[in-house]
Amino acid sequence: MAACEPGRDCPLCPRLAAFRAQWRAAEPTWFNAPVPGFGPSGARLLVVGLAPGVRGANRTGRPFTGDYAGQLLYATLAEFGFSSGTFDARPDDGLALHDARIVNAVRCVPPENKPTPQEIRTCRGFLAAEIAAMPNLTAIVTLGKIAHDSTVAALGARPAHVPFGHGRRAEIAGRALFSSYHCSRYNTNTGVLTPDMFRGVFAAVRAYLG
Ligand code: SF4
Repeated sequence: MAACEPGRDCPLCPRLAAFRAQWRAAEPTWFNAPVPGFGPSGARLLVVGLAPGVRGANRTGRPFTGDYAGQLLYATLAEFGFSSGTFDARPDDGLALHDARIVNAVRCVPPENKPTPQEIRTCRGFLAAEIAAMPNLTAIVTLGKIAHDSTVAALGARPAHVPFGHGRRAEIAGRALFSSYHCSRYNTNTGVLTPDMFRGVFAAVRAYLG
């Protein structure tokens, strides 16, 4: 376990630990633990999501794997050369990330996908450690306002000074921060985020990284 990874029984958020325990009892074959980052820590790109989905990463143990949100994310990463293999929504599908890593701002599944401000703050310690453990980190894509604000804070800046907005880019602590709406089913079904809008963010990242 890397220094930036919490243990399976991380007790720091009592509400989330209790929710985890409920799911362990109900679905003992599921992962039901803090979901670790996926991809090489030597990557230049880090994608920061919100939190595991209960039947997605909480079930499978890999970020954005097993529910809808991963479909657009992994297809887009592949399109811009950040992965090889075929995403099949299973952690053993053989997909590999290249020069990219994915992590969630909150590592345990929250009820109704809604972590509290305290839980976001508490898990930020692991996000900051994750960032510190990536020696080549150059670009970060944040998915949604919660991930954006927590990443800004983890980088030592004030979220009020770096407002979230789809397609915005900021420079913090030598890293380029690209903001995107979250690739959730809700956002894509309602047209808040179209595949082209999402591609636009990763096209800008690819142009920046070369
Ligand atoms: S969300 Fe993060 S800090 Fe809270 S219990 Fe899970 S791993 Fe620990």
